[in-house]
Amino acid sequence: MTADLTPLALPADDWETWLGDRCDTQLARARELVTELKRGGRDTASTMELWNDVNLAMSNAFAVASLLSNVHPDEAVRSRSEQAEQDAHRLHTELGLDRALFEVLSGVDAAELDEGGRRVLGLVLRDFRRAGVDQDEETRERLRRLAERETEVAQAFSKNIRDGVRRVELDPAQLEGLPQDYLESHQPEDDGKVRISTAYPDYVPYMSFGRDREARRQLVHAYLNRAWPDNDVLLRELLELRREHAQILGYPDWPTYDAEVKMIGKGDAIPEFIDRIAEAADGSGRRDLQVLLDRIRDDHPDVANVTTVDRLFYTGVIRRERFDVDAQQVRTYFDFTKVRAGLLDVTGRLFGIEYVEVDVPTWHEDVASYDVVRDGQLLGRIHLDLHPRSGKYNHAAQFDLVPGIEGRQLAEGVLVCNFSRNLMEHDHVVTLFHEFGHLVHHVLAGRHPWARFSGVATEWDFVEAPSQMLEEWAWDPDVLRTFATNAEGEQIPRELVERMRAAEEFGKAFLVRVQMFYAAVSYHLHRDVPDDITAALRELQERYDLCAYVPDTHFHAAFGHLEGYGSGYYTYMWSLVIAKDLFSAFDPANLFDTEVSYRYRDTILAAGGSRDAADLVADFLGRPYSFDAYETWLNR
Ligand SMILES: [Zn+2]
Repeated sequence: MTADLTPLALPADDWETWLGDRCDTQLARARELVTELKRGGRDTASTMELWNDVNLAMSNAFAVASLLSNVHPDEAVRSRSEQAEQDAHRLHTELGLDRALFEVLSGVDAAELDEGGRRVLGLVLRDFRRAGVDQDEETRERLRRLAERETEVAQAFSKNIRDGVRRVELDPAQLEGLPQDYLESHQPEDDGKVRISTAYPDYVPYMSFGRDREARRQLVHAYLNRAWPDNDVLLRELLELRREHAQILGYPDWPTYDAEVKMIGKGDAIPEFIDRIAEAADGSGRRDLQVLLDRIRDDHPDVANVTTVDRLFYTGVIRRERFDVDAQQVRTYFDFTKVRAGLLDVTGRLFGIEYVEVDVPTWHEDVASYDVVRDGQLLGRIHLDLHPRSGKYNHAAQFDLVPGIEGRQLAEGVLVCNFSRNLMEHDHVVTLFHEFGHLVHHVLAGRHPWARFSGVATEWDFVEAPSQMLEEWAWDPDVLRTFATNAEGEQIPRELVERMRAAEEFGKAFLVRVQMFYAAVSYHLHRDVPDDITAALRELQERYDLCAYVPDTHFHAAFGHLEGYGSGYYTYMWSLVIAKDLFSAFDPANLFDTEVSYRYRDTILAAGGSRDAADLVADFLGRPYSFDAYETWLNR
C-alpha cells in the first residue's frame, strides 16, 4: 500500500503562506482531535487511533517548523517558522498537563491492544506521569512555575555564554604558527595589537597552531573564565530547581528522573559507567600523557604537567611528527561531488536501496533531492543541503521533513551541513557519513503504523550509535578507494589512509578521560548540588581528567551542555560503546557483506522506536550489549 503514497509537494514560491498552512492546519487538527478524544465514549481501538493522529499532526508541524527555521534563505520565512515552532511547543506542554486527556488515555484497557498499541500506551502514560499530570492542583501549579523558571534560568545561562566572549591582545609576532588565512583575517588594529577572541573560530585554531605558549596560557585563562562569575549563581539556581522538580515527582534526584527514559535506565548507573570507562582508558591514556609531556618538555623543560594550555597544540605536533599526515595532500582525494556520489553508492550497497535523483522545488537551489527506492518500492525521499550560505544553521545535523507512517505518508529527511563545494577535509567526510547515519535511520524506520515509533524515535543515549558506527566506513581504505580519487583519477593510497587513522587514534584514551571529566561534572553537579561548584569541579578534574586544573579558572560557568544535556553528558560515549559493539558484527576485511548489513538494517534501523534499544541490539548481536569491543578499540 506504500506504493501509492507520494512525497510532500514543496512550493515553488510563497513559502510563508505554505508554511503557515502546513503548521496551523496540523496544530488545529491536533486540537480538534484532542477535543474529540475528551468527549469520551469511544472503544479502545478508536481512542488509540485518534491519539496516534494527534501525535502525527504534532510531529508534522514540529518537523517543518524546525527545518525551515534553520534552512530557509528568507528571513521572514525563518521567523514565521520559529513562531510555528513555539506554537507547537506550547500545545505540547498544554497537552502534557491536560488532566481530562490523561483520564481518557489512562482509562484505555491495555489488554485489548496489540503489542505496539500496548507499548505506545505505556509510553504515553509514563510521559504524562513524568509531566506531573496526576498530581494535585497545587503541586501542578508548582511544577508549572518550576518549569517556567528553569527555562528562564537556562536561557540566561546560555545567553551569558554567547555574550561572554573575551579577547586577548597579542603582538603580531605571537601569531607564529597559524595558517595564512587566519593571519589575513587577524590583522593588527590601530594600536598595533591583534585581538584573538574566545569564540571557536578564533580559539580552536590558535590553541591548535599558536606556537607562543604564554599567549596560549592567556587565551585559556580567558576561555575558562567566560560567563564567570554570573553563571556560577545561575547554575546553582538551575541545579536546585531541577532537584526540586525531580523530588516533587517522587525521584531522589534529577539524574534518576532523567535516566529513567534512557537506555542506561538508572541514575546511579551513570557514575558506574563513567568509572568503568575512565578505568578502561587509564593505561593507554597515561601512556599517551607521558608522550605528550616528554614532547612538551623538549620545548619547555620546566613544565610540570599537561594542561589545556598545551594539549591541543602538542597533540597536533605529535600527529604531524610521528605520522606525517599532510592535510593538504589528503584533501586532494576528497572532491565534494565524488564524495557525495560515493556516499550514496556505499550506503545504497550496504542497505540494499537506490537513490533516484528528482528535480523538485525545494527551499534553495543547492539542495539535491533523491527518492529512496527498495526493490522497486518507494520508501521515502531525502534532501541534501550541504553548502554554507548566510542565515543557515551553521553546524551539521539531520532534520525531519515528514515522519513516515505505514500507508499514510512517506518518510522525508534532510541533511543540513556546511561543506566546501570543492575539496573537502577528511573530517568533514566523516561528518557526512555520521549525519547520513541519522538520515537513513529516519527513512528506514518510516513504515510503522504508530507515529510514536517513526524514525529516530529511540532512547536518547542510543541515538548516536547508528551514526557513529557509519563513521567506520569513512575510515576504511577499501571503502574510501571506491570514491576517493584525485584530479588525475588516482585512488587514495591505502598506506595514507592507515597513517591518517593512526594519527587520529593517538591520544584517544587521553581524550576519553577529558570526556569522562565532563560527564562526571554533568552528573555530580546535578546529584550533589554542591555549595562550592569550583571546588567540586577541581576534585572531579583531579579524579577523571589526566590534564591538570588551570589555576583560577571556572570551566563550569561556560559549560553550555549543562543546559541541554543536564546530567546526561555521558550519552555520547555510551552510544560509542554500543556503536563499537554493533560494528564488531561486521567483518573488517569486508565492510560490504550484505548478509550482516541487511540484518542490521532490518533489526536495528527499521525498528525505530518500536522496541527498547537494548533489545534491538541483543537481537542483532545474538547476545546482550557488552563493553568488550570498545575496550579493545581503546587499548589497541
Ligand atoms: Zn549525530
